[in-house]
Amino acid sequence: MADFDLFVIGAGSGGVRAARVAANHGARVAIAEEHKVGGTCVIRGCVPKKLLVYGAHFAEDLNDAAMFGWDITQCRFDWPVLRDNVLAEVSRLEGAYTETLTNHDVEIFHERAVLTAPNSVQLASGRGLTADKILIATGARPLMPEMPGIEHAISSNETFHLDELPERIVIVGGGYIANEFAGIFHQFGSQVTLVNRTDTLLRGYDQQIVDRLLQISLKKGIDFKFNATIERIEPADNRGLRVTMTGCDDIEADQVLFAVGRRPNVENLGCEAAGLELGEKNQIKVDDDNRTSVPSIFAVGDVTDRVQLTPVAIREGQAFADSFFGNKPRQVDYDCIPSAVFSHPPLAGVGLTEGQARNRLGAVKCYTSDFRPMKNVLAGRNERSLYKLVVEGDSDRIVGVHMIGPDAPEILQAAAVAVKARLKKSDFDATVAIHPTMSEELVLMR
Ligand code: NDP
Repeated sequence: MADFDLFVIGAGSGGVRAARVAANHGARVAIAEEHKVGGTCVIRGCVPKKLLVYGAHFAEDLNDAAMFGWDITQCRFDWPVLRDNVLAEVSRLEGAYTETLTNHDVEIFHERAVLTAPNSVQLASGRGLTADKILIATGARPLMPEMPGIEHAISSNETFHLDELPERIVIVGGGYIANEFAGIFHQFGSQVTLVNRTDTLLRGYDQQIVDRLLQISLKKGIDFKFNATIERIEPADNRGLRVTMTGCDDIEADQVLFAVGRRPNVENLGCEAAGLELGEKNQIKVDDDNRTSVPSIFAVGDVTDRVQLTPVAIREGQAFADSFFGNKPRQVDYDCIPSAVFSHPPLAGVGLTEGQARNRLGAVKCYTSDFRPMKNVLAGRNERSLYKLVVEGDSDRIVGVHMIGPDAPEILQAAAVAVKARLKKSDFDATVAIHPTMSEELVLMR
């Protein structure tokens, strides 16, 4: 008999969910984690990032407060206070995740585990263990491209631990992390320059919504260098770093943050020993049941490079555990996954963008609402929100909802239910507005 029914490698969102649910179904489960229990989302991703976004937003709110009658004379931001409070919250959550696992009798090994064969792993301490099934949930890590001086640059991992805020920061990339941290550092008072290899930001999001973010970001004072690539980073003469680029003049900065995608964590994991098949980005290839090319080994989450989002990894972990330990076979439905970018202001979307709909469907109707939120009007903040409904012309079905503006991710989550439920524009029209809100625009577009 094997030591465990299930051995999970990696205690991030997908791994923890799979371990807990499998144990709940009665399986004997162990999990190995070489860093901290919680993984990218909890330790160095979504959670601490969102707390920084909240912290950053005070800059605007405190500024706007004057028009609402508040006299805030002594306004000073203390980065170490926020940083340490965020790190303390992360530690608390790490404890909560660990407790969840131990409460479900999941044995935790706080060390690295590697595959040695289809049913066995070896821990860093040298101990060998066997399991009927092995789940790889090792996630992904920031891609740091090879170039002279890359050792001077940081990834999103380090942003949560900075000793001091950079006066000037260059952020490389045009995706989620680049746009989110551009907003965060700008609000904290850093001079931000975003360098992108093309002139396309946030590929996959609706173009009109992304254009609005660019317009607002430029107006706030974030600098963008498009069609530029970094060649070299070296210490500058006086202080900071000199960044040499093609397509753009050199820039000096105190920090250079790379946010150019994430790569699956498969190095030295024993994939060859176990006979696992990898894809072209080194992702672990799996079928619809999360099964790898080796029947006893499964994988979920970012290491499979399907959709790199926490809620998706959690669903994959749940589906795996239910299917193989709960006798409830299920597969994850990847259609209509809503997502958001916590930029300043945030944007969010679900379903087809206008461009995708026009390419894929016959007739398409788009409805937009371009408005200045009431709060911005009184604050004198000339920042407009944009909501868009993409509707299939023949059926009247809403196939996409896209928005940028305050609380867009909070609002979009509810709208995503309607898109997933294949509701029609007429259903939105028939719904009475809640007044005065921003979200009422969703049911008032004609
Ligand atoms: P993204 O995939 O979002 O964006 C990567 C950006 O870097 C793109 O602009 C891309 O350009 C550019 N790029 C890619 N390779 C290079 C290179 N070699 N040199 C220069 N530029 C390059 O990656 P992120 O790192 O921002 O985030 C990683 C993933 O984490 C996201 O895909 C997302 O799934 C997840 N995430 C989700 C968040 C959320 O849900 N709010 C927040 C943060 C991360 P191009 O478009 O031309 O390919």
